[in-house]
Amino acid sequence: MEPAVGIDLGTTYSAVAWVNRDGVPEIIPDALGEALTPSVVGFDASGTPIVGAGAKVAQAEGEEAVAHLFKRWMGDAAFRFGGGGREWTPPELSAQVLGHLKRQAEEALGTAVRRVVVTVPEYFTHPEREATLKAGRLAGLDVLRLMSEPTAAALAYGLRPAAETRRLLVYDLGGGTFDISLVEIGAEELRVVGAEGDHELGGRDWDDRLVGELLRQLTTEESELLADRPGALLVEAERIKRTLSARRAAELRIAIEGRTIRATATREGFAAASRDLVEMTGHLTRKLLEEVDLTWDDITGVLPVGGSTRMPMIREFIEEISGKPPMAGIHPDHAVALGAAAQAALLLEAEAEALRLPGTAVAEPILRLGGPRKVSNVVAHSLGMIAESADRERYLNSVLLPRNQRIPSQATRPYKFRLKGDGSDEMEIFLTQGETENVQDCAYLGRYIVTGFPAKGGRREAVVDVTYSYDDSALVDVAAVDRVGGARLDVKVEQLPEDIPGRFLLPPAKGGGREPMTVYLAFDLSGSMSGPPLSAAKGAARAFVGQLDLTTTAVGLIGFSDSVKVELKATNNGSSIERAIQRLRVGSTGYGNDADPFDKIKELLRRDQHRRFAVVLADGVWSHQQKAISRARACHGVGIEVVAVGFGGADHGFLRAVASSDEQALFTRMGELSDVFGTIARELTESGA
Ligand code: AMP
Repeated sequence: MEPAVGIDLGTTYSAVAWVNRDGVPEIIPDALGEALTPSVVGFDASGTPIVGAGAKVAQAEGEEAVAHLFKRWMGDAAFRFGGGGREWTPPELSAQVLGHLKRQAEEALGTAVRRVVVTVPEYFTHPEREATLKAGRLAGLDVLRLMSEPTAAALAYGLRPAAETRRLLVYDLGGGTFDISLVEIGAEELRVVGAEGDHELGGRDWDDRLVGELLRQLTTEESELLADRPGALLVEAERIKRTLSARRAAELRIAIEGRTIRATATREGFAAASRDLVEMTGHLTRKLLEEVDLTWDDITGVLPVGGSTRMPMIREFIEEISGKPPMAGIHPDHAVALGAAAQAALLLEAEAEALRLPGTAVAEPILRLGGPRKVSNVVAHSLGMIAESADRERYLNSVLLPRNQRIPSQATRPYKFRLKGDGSDEMEIFLTQGETENVQDCAYLGRYIVTGFPAKGGRREAVVDVTYSYDDSALVDVAAVDRVGGARLDVKVEQLPEDIPGRFLLPPAKGGGREPMTVYLAFDLSGSMSGPPLSAAKGAARAFVGQLDLTTTAVGLIGFSDSVKVELKATNNGSSIERAIQRLRVGSTGYGNDADPFDKIKELLRRDQHRRFAVVLADGVWSHQQKAISRARACHGVGIEVVAVGFGGADHGFLRAVASSDEQALFTRMGELSDVFGTIARELTESGA
């Protein structure tokens, strides 16, 4: 039987583990018995790479051609490291580490190792994940799955039977990054519910604070002496930091130009100097709890992972914010590799089961500890594309798949595309990962080119359904279908042009564009909507937005009952729209039926130059119908098209009177609201196409 192997490919250290013959995950140490291999690559005199401890020694001796921290440049196509007489890309350097660990495992297990699970930081974007896969291929490995590091640590923790579902916050503070993930461990499944983090917050920042503390104690003359050797102080600070994890005080001693520079660092002084860094992790933790709508009472405990959680100030802070001591029971340096090996075992077991012939016996499980047999994750980044703003004045990042959704996941969106129709049409999509609208703040995954539009047909505009998906490893795939005829189009990925994101800081070129549109959804939020009707209405709003081309259409949201509330001003940002839908509450505008939304719709759309629509949803009879009808007519009068949708106890005659035409008044049942709203949006998108 093939061994179940997992590799923690870390920034500073890497490790490999397998699930042993007793069904327990176990670290595979190197020939010297070391569990951790430095992620460092040096070269011998003939240019042959040397990985791990040997290379680290060369580095400490001042050898320059030693590559380290290259994981930070994974996915950066331009990065090169010169060593051993040639240039190396980050995946090539990582492949050296992976190959080293592969051989280490093969020697220890006495069998070939090919299929493995490799861990990556939760926040790794698509290009960084692709680069990791490539490193695996170069090392002769077949990567079964890329697993996120906090998930792996949580799985290593979760491999023990427990009566109840546990909800943990995995607090992962390493050398350069902080990740906080909320993980639910049930009897059957381990599920990551959400993640937050800061990728420029880690042990190195604490080192800097300690440097500051030490410098404060030195004379100007001593500081000037040290200024010539900045590295020496930093290396000493890191050592002192580790000492302070075990003792209350530690000494600095640096011999320089015949003098010895001395200073003392105390645990208290260090904690005070780094308080804001600690608070930052607390801020991100609270932000995550808010995002997933949970409180500390819902959390079983906080699981510390990563070397920097050894600092007492972190353990104390965890207790301070959660009210409970940090959870124990996993090795902070081994947990990720152990979890990866466990995941490999679960995947191999699932594969064996899928291939099992009917009537044959179920295979023995590889992993024989308790705990969940299924792991599901979310993606830490929203997936988006660069679009033109509704007013066509600027470019923005429009979110398609919001972050913290369970993977694998996919979404399909329509895009209107202006055709030349001569067979040379190319639709260009710039895919991004990031939360903001700002085109400078997101990561670019590539330039996706859609081709294969028929040369004939005389169409001026096509509606293309583009499907974006995340697989189990959070890798992105794109597919496109031409709505007319349903033909699948070709999608290929190209390298990003040099002028990205610079070109998106300029206003979009005018002319030849597609017709923009603004739509307000106005939802009745009176008492009768509470419970299932509101859920159905939210579903309908999502179905509606899913059928709109947000690169040309802005969507706003209004709630009304006794009063009228603008829940969201029209925007192209998919995340803002989703958040506004989530926030809809019965009672936020009272419980009765005194108000109507038409004056507000008219006011909001008065200055809008685009095609303007309002879709009104009602489930009952409004108190002042005559007034509402006259206000709705005022909207029609200024060119705003009103579509009225009724269900439940809605008044048919009244809705026909407020709609712009009889065809624009629709009646349905609660269970069909999503279909109806989806169809309305489809028609809006296709009109003009
Ligand atoms: P990791 O990326 O998880 O290996 O964490 C590396 C970081 O942990 C580095 O910044 C180390 O300085 C830090 N670290 C390791 N051991 C200790 C310790 N005993 N006390 C404080 N920080 C530590």
